[in-house]
Amino acid sequence: MANVVLHDVRKIYPGGVEAIKGVGFEIGDGQFCVLVGPSGCGKSTLLRMVAGLETITGGTIDIGGRVVNQLEPAERDIAMVFQNYALYPHMSVYNNMAYGLRNRGMPKPEIDKRVREAAQILEIAPMLERKPRQLSGGQRQRVAMGRAIVRQPKVFLFDEPLSNLDAKLRIAMRVEIRKLQRRLNTTSIYVTHDQLEAMTLADILVVMNGGVVEQIGKPLDIYNKPATTFVASFIGAPPMNLLPLKANGLESQLARLQLNAPGDAVLGVRPEDFSISGDSASGRLGLELIVDAIERVGPETYVYGTPAHDGAARTVSAKPGELPPGEIIVRLPGEAVPVIGERLQIAAPRAKLHLFSAAGRRIGD
Ligand code: ADP
Repeated sequence: MANVVLHDVRKIYPGGVEAIKGVGFEIGDGQFCVLVGPSGCGKSTLLRMVAGLETITGGTIDIGGRVVNQLEPAERDIAMVFQNYALYPHMSVYNNMAYGLRNRGMPKPEIDKRVREAAQILEIAPMLERKPRQLSGGQRQRVAMGRAIVRQPKVFLFDEPLSNLDAKLRIAMRVEIRKLQRRLNTTSIYVTHDQLEAMTLADILVVMNGGVVEQIGKPLDIYNKPATTFVASFIGAPPMNLLPLKANGLESQLARLQLNAPGDAVLGVRPEDFSISGDSASGRLGLELIVDAIERVGPETYVYGTPAHDGAARTVSAKPGELPPGEIIVRLPGEAVPVIGERLQIAAPRAKLHLFSAAGRRIGD
């Protein structure tokens, strides 16, 4: 059991890539911290520095009140679960789990106790004599976790452990990992690029971008109040609509709603906060949308459209490739059936509007 404190951590790789540009935060004892961000944002680098697999260029990493910068991985009291579980193919499940403990010279009865306990928790007790190839992907993943559990470390580190599994199994394993962590109550750091995985697993969510922390907090606090346009479009799917005020002629509506924002500000509205309504008068912001695509996914319908006024780009995309420029997404109940080419009056309540500066920082609350 331990807390983990990062203070102004930096990493410059040989060759000059500045992968981590000064990151600091604290993970309380027993908390599940998820590092999330797009590929290349530095999350694996940060995790590997905590693990001791990468040197630390600057700052300190403290585990359980002890600065570990200079300690070897084996001395840090951590256990890591990787995406390619790296099980030994010729060893039984039992031996895969026992291997690390034997290497440490732990007495046999203690090893046996720990392996059987872990197998019980992970529900792989009947499979201890099997070889990894005789297991399903999910079972192999559990063995990989078993290997971490038997160490009884102060901190678990997970590096995209589910990314090799198919979608259905990923959801099942996600739930299992969360239940397991609650049961063991071990401080954990988990890296993923999947915002949904991050939202559902985290006690504390750390959203990273370009080697810095964009925002840190409880998942729903971040969802409800993203600090930047980057976070606004990264957390939540489909992403938040981001509309520059001026290009969309929204200044007068904001004034009517008594929202103060500079002329170059950007308005953010989540797809689910729009509804079909001709009434934009009382406490609501209204838009007219020309429908150009519809996706019906059962419980809900995604409507894509462009605002019915002329002008250049009316939406901005903070996450390249996510939303075609100019498109607005509206998420409606499944029974809604707009048609392509239709002009749709949509509105969002004032309390659900987000404002960002031209530089992408949240304005007000
Ligand atoms: P993520 O895990 O978020 O995808 P990484 O931590 O792997 O990001 O990488 C962060 C940045 O550091 C990237 O620009 C990547 O190209 C660079 N990088 C990662 N590993 C090395 C390395 N061993 N040498 C040089 N640059 C690296």
